[in-house]
Amino acid sequence: MIRFDAVTKRYPDGTEAVDRLSLEIPDRSITVLVGPSGCGKTTTLRMINRMIEPSSGTILLDGRDIQQQPVNALRRSMGYVIQNAGLFQHRTIVDNIATVPRLLGWDRQRSRTRAMELMERVGLDPSMAKRYPYQLSGGQQQRVGVARALAADPPVLLMDEPFSAVDPVVRKGLQEELLRIQAELGKTIVFVTHDIDEAIRIGDMIAVLRTGGRLAQFAPPDQLLAA
Ligand code: ADP
Ligand code: ADP
Repeated sequence: MIRFDAVTKRYPDGTEAVDRLSLEIPDRSITVLVGPSGCGKTTTLRMINRMIEPSSGTILLDGRDIQQQPVNALRRSMGYVIQNAGLFQHRTIVDNIATVPRLLGWDRQRSRTRAMELMERVGLDPSMAKRYPYQLSGGQQQRVGVARALAADPPVLLMDEPFSAVDPVVRKGLQEELLRIQAELGKTIVFVTHDIDEAIRIGDMIAVLRTGGRLAQFAPPDQLLAA
């Protein structure tokens, strides 16, 4: 479980991005952070893998303060997916996905086999393996991003508006794919979006943030109060 305990983030310029956030993110669930632009969603997400350090408060992963853990080990246990996939443009799709296994010291063949399995898992045709990112649609690139984040089989996936840049029909397909992956692999997923419909469609738990980084509600979708 990921637990936020009175976590505050104040940027050096004085912006209070997150204000005394306390939250328990259940294991093997999709927890969605939702709210208007600037309400502190990305800041909250990036504190989980220590890309951003809190100003005060603690974040616990399975009962251990993440501040006390080596950052490399922490990040290895967390896949990270961003809006425009962040793919390596000069590498093929299969090599993009195989990058992580290679970094973990797997040999070339095993890494490629793993990458091909992951392509299938996220619904990408094997014929795309040798293509480059620019030869794929936005939705396909996001699938590659998800496959790459899953490559080391981390228990946690952090996703920052992963489907926001694709059209509504493709987005729905990606959401369904994510639900299927979640059901099959049982990952703990923390998902940022500003789209309440998306939050309701995929979230087991929904954290509604308000401007100023305060938690307004934390509930399953069927118990959310109309704002
Ligand atoms: P969201 O993801 O909900 O759009 P962010 O977490 O990106 O919100 O930002 C929360 C607030 O903190 C916003 O007011 C934003 O402008 C501010 N902010 C984000 N990053 C920085 C930074 N590096 N320095 C100063 N202010 C920042
Ligand atoms: P998002 O699309 O997730 O809301 P933003 O476009 O708000 O992200 O921010 C992109 C990057 O700019 C982030 O790394 C964030 O930390 C930084 N940033 C956002 N707001 C500010 C700010 N007011 N001052 C400095 N950096 C900021």
